Amino acid sequence: MNRQLNFILILCYFILNTGSTFAQTNKNNNTTFIKAGKLFDSENGKILSDYIVKIERNRITEVGKNISIPAGANIIDLSDFTVMPGLIDGHTHLMTLDNLNDDQPMAGKLLFEGDALRVLRGSKRAKSWLETGFTTVRDLGDSGPFLDVALKRAINEGTVVGPRMFVSGPIIISEGGQVAGLMNKYRTVISDEYTIVRSVDDAINSVRVHVNNGADIIKICANNSPNNTSLTIDEMKAIVKMAHRYGKKVTAHATTNLAVWEAVTAGVDGIEHGYQISDTTLVLMAKKAVVLVPTDISEPLFHKLYDIIDFKWDREKNMKRAKGRYKDRLQRAIKAGVTIVTGSDNYLDLEMPQGEAAKNILIAYEEEGMKPLDILKSSTYLSAKFMGKENEFGVLKEGTFADIIAVKGDIEKDFSNAIYDVVFVMKNGKVYVEKE
Ligand SMILES: [Zn+2]
Repeated sequence: MNRQLNFILILCYFILNTGSTFAQTNKNNNTTFIKAGKLFDSENGKILSDYIVKIERNRITEVGKNISIPAGANIIDLSDFTVMPGLIDGHTHLMTLDNLNDDQPMAGKLLFEGDALRVLRGSKRAKSWLETGFTTVRDLGDSGPFLDVALKRAINEGTVVGPRMFVSGPIIISEGGQVAGLMNKYRTVISDEYTIVRSVDDAINSVRVHVNNGADIIKICANNSPNNTSLTIDEMKAIVKMAHRYGKKVTAHATTNLAVWEAVTAGVDGIEHGYQISDTTLVLMAKKAVVLVPTDISEPLFHKLYDIIDFKWDREKNMKRAKGRYKDRLQRAIKAGVTIVTGSDNYLDLEMPQGEAAKNILIAYEEEGMKPLDILKSSTYLSAKFMGKENEFGVLKEGTFADIIAVKGDIEKDFSNAIYDVVFVMKNGKVYVEKE
């Protein structure tokens, strides 16, 4: 068949088929009304009562109190629950799950797992995030050679079930990556996992490579912990300049105060972890509107982790010390006016669905003194805003995708239980979880 004829036939089929789909849509009434007993206004961090959300196909078309519902309409009655935008986990590694008792998990991943098995396993984990109420994740590397882009495509086309993915591709990093103790002769394997930068020119080109391969955001390591090396400020500046030229944000893994300060000076948009940030650096972050993604651990997860590694030494004291540091840093950041974006960084096998383990990050913030509605705002509206997507998700308003969840219980007074009692999950207008 000649190619032109083929094209015309395909075009005709598309037009006819689209026409019939619309007709069917109207006949089947593709409009749904959600009755929300309580509704979380994520932009303003408030709970509203007795609201209705109107959804047409995959988008919200109206949110309000006095919306008339025509007879025979599709109604989802969530009057007994709190309805909110789907949660966003701002720091995931869907393609990685480390066994806590494995001395060299990186070797296992790079040398024995392989890309195909890795992405298949990642797809199962992706589903666990969606089922617990995360309708979007920001996946920040540890995902082999753009396997995150492949998984994102598979989810978007409906091949596998998972949250919306906003992906970085491999982490852009200096020599050695985050692989500690590897013999020099095997170093080429590191390039399977990371994009290694050895100069400013490399830095510039690395961004082009990532943009061409479908990265939504650029993730760098300002310091390579556990390795004791780092990118230079000039390399980071070159990355930021190129990324911004292509409309992409840059977020930096940075644990020490020096690494945070250098990354912020170079112009990054976000800081991941930031365990040791000083007050002076926090002031600089606030001034430059750089967000902080604190990837802390909740007390229940600490216990789980210590159980698995059979940690016998004074666990209460160790946990209290770690939590004290997390809390101090988080409270100082909030006081300095730094925007908090939530992110679990959960890549450890804690013997539960990984999405559920990831959700513990929200409990961790509450333990560290954040108010429930502030945590929810960070995990919805502010996370979406950091991605430049606040008109697409993270908020329930006209025009956004119908990414909606509902929880049972008192979200303000009993946050840690209610946030786990998810009774309803909808993504892009499709229901994935609906419990009585
Ligand atoms: Zn991480």
